[in-house]
Amino acid sequence: MAVERTLSIIKPDATKRNLTGKINAKFEDAGLRIVAQKRIQLTPAQAGVFYEVHKERPFYGELCDFMASGPVVVQVLEGEGAIAKNREVMGATNPADAAPGTVRAEFAESVGENSVHGSDAADTAAQEIAYFFSGLELVG
Ligand code: UDP
Ligand code: MG
Repeated sequence: MAVERTLSIIKPDATKRNLTGKINAKFEDAGLRIVAQKRIQLTPAQAGVFYEVHKERPFYGELCDFMASGPVVVQVLEGEGAIAKNREVMGATNPADAAPGTVRAEFAESVGENSVHGSDAADTAAQEIAYFFSGLELVG
């Protein structure tokens, strides 16, 4: 399997509860390397561009407001099969369905406030990394 990079976001529900370190430990324990990371405050408009793919979904407005409700930690994770591996570590979107030991099973508060984002494919990973980071900021 090839070495990949994927975009991860630690969402406002998790940064508010001071869970950045605990979540990062799960990524690192799974063999994912954090090759870029920054804590930022998004505006609803910036969150809206990021989640544009969901703009027709009923939860879009609420999702954008939530993502702008506090700081987020945006990060690039690198490793063998990083895109799928990160999705595995994250767990299912709805914490009620997330496997034991996953980030969402342990930390998510609801299907909306579910602690982490992770890219779902190679093309979206590349696009999402480029939304937040320049090449100079990726230090593998
Ligand atoms: N979301 C929501 N309600 C839903 C489904 C999704 O609020 O019924 C939110 C949730 O924060 C989720 C994000 O929208 O993480 C993006 O949804 P997606 O289906 O892409 O889930 P993910 O890829 O994050 O598991
Ligand atoms: Mg998604």
